[in-house]
Amino acid sequence: MGAPKLIILDRDGVINHDSPDFIKSPAEWIPVPGSLEAIARLNQAGYRVVVASNQSGIAREFFDMTILNAIHKKMHDMAQQVGATIDAVFFCPHAAADNCDCRKPKPGMFTEISQRYKINLKGVPVVGDSLRDLQAGYVSGCVPYLVLTGKGEKTQATGGLPPGTMIFPDLSAMVTHLLKTSTPPALHIVS
Ligand SMILES: [Mg+2]
Ligand SMILES: [Zn+2]
Repeated sequence: MGAPKLIILDRDGVINHDSPDFIKSPAEWIPVPGSLEAIARLNQAGYRVVVASNQSGIAREFFDMTILNAIHKKMHDMAQQVGATIDAVFFCPHAAADNCDCRKPKPGMFTEISQRYKINLKGVPVVGDSLRDLQAGYVSGCVPYLVLTGKGEKTQATGGLPPGTMIFPDLSAMVTHLLKTSTPPALHIVS
C-alpha cells in the first residue's frame, strides 16, 4: 500500500449546482448530474475525497451553522446512496472583510488538510469552478483542474488560470481522465 491518495474538491459549482443567491438550504443543494457517482469512482480507485469550500453566507448571515450542517448531511446522504464517501468538509465561514487565512484564494484550508492527513499536497488534484479555488490549490502544490459547471465557463473566459490547469466539462469527465492517466503502466508484458 502506498500513501493515501487524496483529491480536494470545491463544493458549489463542482459537486452541486451553484446559485448567485448562495445555497441557503438543503432544498437548494442539487447535485450536478454524475458528480456523486464520480466521487464513488474515486473512492473505488483508493482516493479519499475532501471538500474545501468558501461559505461566506455564514458571515453574511444568509444562513447559520445549523443550516450548513443540514446541507452537508444531505450531501453525505445522497453520496452514500450511490456508494460515495466524502471524507471531510473544510469550509471558511468568513467574509472577505474578515481577512482570515482560510478564505480561498488564501491557502489556509489546504494547509489544514495537509496537517490533518499528514501529507504533502504536492501533486494532489484540486478541482474548482472559480479561479480562487485553483489559486489556493496551486500555491499549496496541488495540480489544478477547472470544471465548466457552475462559474467555470466564466472563469475560463476571464483567463489567468495557474500554469498547467487542465479543463474538463464537469467532475465526471475530470475523474474519468484522472483514473485513466493514473493507471500504472505494466511492468512487463509477457510475449
Ligand atoms: Mg465553486
Ligand atoms: Zn476564513
